Amino acid sequence: MIYGIGTPKMIYLGEQRCAGALLQTASGATDLFRRYGMDHHTQHAPTLPTTKRCTACVQTKSLAEFPRNCGRPDGYDSRCKSCRDHAKRTFAAANLDRERERKKQYAAATKARMLRRYHEDATYRAELGAKARARRLAHLDTYRAERRAYQRLWRQANPAKNLDFSGQYRARKMAAARVDKVDRAAVIARDRAICHICGKRVLDPKAIHLDHLVPVSKGGDHTANNLAVAHASCNLSRGAGRIPAQLRLLLTPTPEPCEPHSDAEPSR
Ligand SMILES: [Zn+2]
Ligand SMILES: [Zn+2]
Repeated sequence: MIYGIGTPKMIYLGEQRCAGALLQTASGATDLFRRYGMDHHTQHAPTLPTTKRCTACVQTKSLAEFPRNCGRPDGYDSRCKSCRDHAKRTFAAANLDRERERKKQYAAATKARMLRRYHEDATYRAELGAKARARRLAHLDTYRAERRAYQRLWRQANPAKNLDFSGQYRARKMAAARVDKVDRAAVIARDRAICHICGKRVLDPKAIHLDHLVPVSKGGDHTANNLAVAHASCNLSRGAGRIPAQLRLLLTPTPEPCEPHSDAEPSR
């Protein structure tokens, strides 16, 4: 219902202070006067009610307990805040997918708004930067501990990648000329898990070492071609003064997956 004086919004935003002024010039003011029990000859603002009955719980509560809603004649929702919240929660519980989608969209819109402001507003940018720096400084130890805990979990969850990364890290630390992203599993599959030193299959996958054929210390690269499967024990028992692997590979044929057999004639 519109009372013939501008938009309802004008009335509700103005509340008591300007309602009177509006009413004096309003042609349809009688409705409002009647609604609030006023004599329409009164030249003063009507006294607006301070309580209201909730349509859901049917209790009379103070206006402060109703959500603002400028689309309603008196500027407040018909349901009290607690009834409105209850209804919202009930609806959300019954429409989980919809609620998830709504939250996602809301978060995306907020992020987009902040990003736009971040790019357009240099002051805001500086402010955010200073805040972040202060936060980092104040929580240095916490953040460090959090990062370590996260990394520990990541290593547990990605053991294969962790081994790949640590291999690359060691090679880079030893100043290898070339460090590839070597897939350990692919090298093991290529070598059929056979130790290039003793020629036997490595039974325990955890005991597999990837050995640089030309050691990184001798200028070898960290590449799949320069890596070969070895028993951890075989790899570690040889010192740096071993027979160069590439020479050994020339002298001995590529090991076969089956058990090494002798050259003797099979007995019949
Ligand atoms: Zn209520
Ligand atoms: Zn071996």
